[in-house]
Amino acid sequence: MSPVHVSPISLRRVDLAPSVPGLVEVVSPGSFAMELGIEPGDRVVGVNGQPLVDALDFHFLAQADQVVLDVERAGSLLRYQLEMEGDEFWGITFADPTFDGVRICENACPFCFIKQIPKGMRRSLYVMDDDFRYSMLYGSFVTLTNLSEADWERIEEQHISPLHVSVHSTNPELRQALVGNPRAGSIMDDLRRLERAGIDFHAQFVLVPGVNDGAEMDRSLTDLATLGDRLKSIAAVPVGLSRFGQMRQSKQIRLSRTCMRTLPDKQISVRRYELDEALAVIAQAEPWQQRFWAERGNPFLYLGDEFYLMTGSPVPDTAHYGGFPQIEDGIGITRHFLDRLDGYLRRAKTGTLEGMAATIACGTLIEPTMREAAARFNAHSGAAIEVVAVRNEYLGGEINVSGLLTGSDVVAVLADRPGDAPLFISDRMVSQRNGLLLDDMRVPELASALRRQVIPAADFSDIARELRTRKTQRAHRAA
Ligand code: SF4
Repeated sequence: MSPVHVSPISLRRVDLAPSVPGLVEVVSPGSFAMELGIEPGDRVVGVNGQPLVDALDFHFLAQADQVVLDVERAGSLLRYQLEMEGDEFWGITFADPTFDGVRICENACPFCFIKQIPKGMRRSLYVMDDDFRYSMLYGSFVTLTNLSEADWERIEEQHISPLHVSVHSTNPELRQALVGNPRAGSIMDDLRRLERAGIDFHAQFVLVPGVNDGAEMDRSLTDLATLGDRLKSIAAVPVGLSRFGQMRQSKQIRLSRTCMRTLPDKQISVRRYELDEALAVIAQAEPWQQRFWAERGNPFLYLGDEFYLMTGSPVPDTAHYGGFPQIEDGIGITRHFLDRLDGYLRRAKTGTLEGMAATIACGTLIEPTMREAAARFNAHSGAAIEVVAVRNEYLGGEINVSGLLTGSDVVAVLADRPGDAPLFISDRMVSQRNGLLLDDMRVPELASALRRQVIPAADFSDIARELRTRKTQRAHRAA
């Protein structure tokens, strides 16, 4: 294997740097690491004499024919000299995938949601990450504006793919203003460089009404359509404005980053979509989707579910989503949720949940769909599930998706309704990383405030499984 370039522990702007870089959290049973005797709590400090900056570095370097692995355990250094066969499954999960912290952005997007959230929410929410490693590992979106030449070379050399790129607009001047960074204007050059390197990427537009939709969106789509099949999909989501964001906009407060001073004098005014504007986006997308169907075999351009739900338009069918390439970003999650319900209704016998009751708390946007879905579920299973829509008082009613509800919002609506029946909340409300809700509440604390069991669930299959277990337990107690 040729020597690789490994950037030194980053001198760039980072946040959430782990106190113990390279800490092993989990060793999978039956893995190569377990065979070697590596344990949770060990620290991987280097491979072949090179320090590591993240888990990607580890996996790249540890693929060599011969590996010298340095591991620190309780202050002692263990050195493993390994002849590799090439098909080893390392099975190491690090406590933090990036040993040098999370790279933060050098932008000042006028619609930045992180700048719109109040104090007191979970710490990780305030991290303005723009880190290509998280983009590859977890699907978070990056702007590519903070990449040094060394970063580009590393992406190319280690084939860090796929990436998820916030494009917003291919018009250089407009993208500079939308991203708040004079380096943002070279996006098409950046995407072509990814393409030349064989890196797959998904693109995203955060649409701001009257700014980058309409003719500007046509221009962006025309430019993106010139790219080959390394571009895997394009998503367009409406801008989100919390009540703090609205105040910020109404006071015309701009974000104060040094780079803003060198921008062209283009002030972006951000507001939410009105009904007719959202319908216009759906109508504008359709001919593009037809063109992409013909050219690429799927609609390729996917609108955020909000466009359909807020206009009362039917969400597209499963075939439209072509494998749901951007479901991590919530694109097509409503159709996926309904598909899972249909699957349950096809599989499950009728009447199996007679006598079981529960409540689902959801955001106001999905409420009509959720009520309809619960009615179908109840009619088939015999359960009595009620749906309660919860307004987002914490961030403001314009933020109406279930995943951004806080514990205090749920308490405000359901505190006076304790009981034996469980309350199901969206599992998207709970951080996978630390189990916290947006306002730092934990699920057991929420349960205690509501005096009823609270269960995060993804869909009706999860709910059915939980109710079936409870019904069985109840039958055993009665026997
Ligand atoms: S890239 Fe833009 S939206 Fe993302 S964190 Fe930075 S300023 Fe906010």
